[in-house]
Amino acid sequence: MDIVPLQPADYQSIVFFTGAGMSAESGIPTYRGKGGIWTKYHWEQVACEEAFRRDPEQVLTFHRERRLGVAACRPNSGHHIIAALEQQHPRVTVVTQNIDGLHGLAGSARVIELHGSLWRLRCPRDGQRLEIKPGSDYPDRCECGAWLRPDIVWFGDNLDQDVINLAMESLAECDLFVSVGTSGTVWPAAGLPQIARRNGAYSLEINPEANENSRLYDRAYRAPATQVLPRLFPSVTGPVRA
Ligand code: NAD
Repeated sequence: MDIVPLQPADYQSIVFFTGAGMSAESGIPTYRGKGGIWTKYHWEQVACEEAFRRDPEQVLTFHRERRLGVAACRPNSGHHIIAALEQQHPRVTVVTQNIDGLHGLAGSARVIELHGSLWRLRCPRDGQRLEIKPGSDYPDRCECGAWLRPDIVWFGDNLDQDVINLAMESLAECDLFVSVGTSGTVWPAAGLPQIARRNGAYSLEINPEANENSRLYDRAYRAPATQVLPRLFPSVTGPVRA
C-alpha cells in the first residue's frame, strides 16, 4: 500500500478522530464485527439507563469486568505516535469515541472524550464525579447512597453539550482531519467527518474496512492503525514505543 507521508508543519491544526479500532491492536475488542462486545452481550441489559435502573448490580458488574480487561491493555504504537506529535506541533487534538483512556495513558493531553470515560464514575442523584485509577478499588455507591454509574454515554443517553462544543471548536479550526478506526455508525460522532470536510480540512481515513462515511474522506488507507500511522508521520520522533 502506498502511503503518502504528511508534514505536520504544513498544517495549523490537526484533529485525530478515533474509535474502537484505534485500541483494537491494544487488545480491546471493538463493539461491532468479529469478536465485538455486542456479539457476546445485549446492550439492552448492560449499557443503558433502563438496565441500570432495573438491575444496577448487573450493569456495574459488566463495567467492572470491562475495566479489568482494559487495565490489562497498554497503548499501542498508534496512540504513542499521536501523543508524540502533540509534543512537536502546537495544535493537535484527539476527539475520541473511546472510553478506555489509552490516549491519555500514551501521553496525549488534549483529548476530548465524546463518550466519557470508564475511569470516571458519576452519581445520578447529586451529579458528583469520582475519578478512578486502574488497579485501585472504588465504591459502588455515592456518599448519598445512590448507585454510582460509569460516566460514559450509554445507548439512549445524550452527549455532554460542553464536550460537543469543545469538539466543534477543534473541528472549526482544523485543516487536517485524520479518522482512525471508527465504523461511523454511532451518532452524533459519525457526523464529525462531514463537518470537517465542510470546514475545508484535508481528511484521511485509516480503517481496514470501508463504511458509509468513507466517501467523505479525501483519502483512505485500508490497513490497521499501527501500520499506517508510523508511515504517515515518519517525521514524528519522541516517545514512540511499540
Ligand atoms: P465500532 O466497533 O463500531 O467500529 C470499529 C471500527 O474499527 C471498524 O470500522 C473496524 O473496521 C475498525 N478497525 C478494526 N481494527 C482496526 C485497526 N487495527 N485499525 C484501524 N481500524 C480498525 O467502533 P466505533 O466506531 O468507535 O463506535 C462504537 C462505539 O463503541 C463508540 O461509541 C465507542 O465509545 C465504543 N467503544 C469503545 C471502545 C474503547 O473505548 N476502546 C471499545 C469498543 C467500543
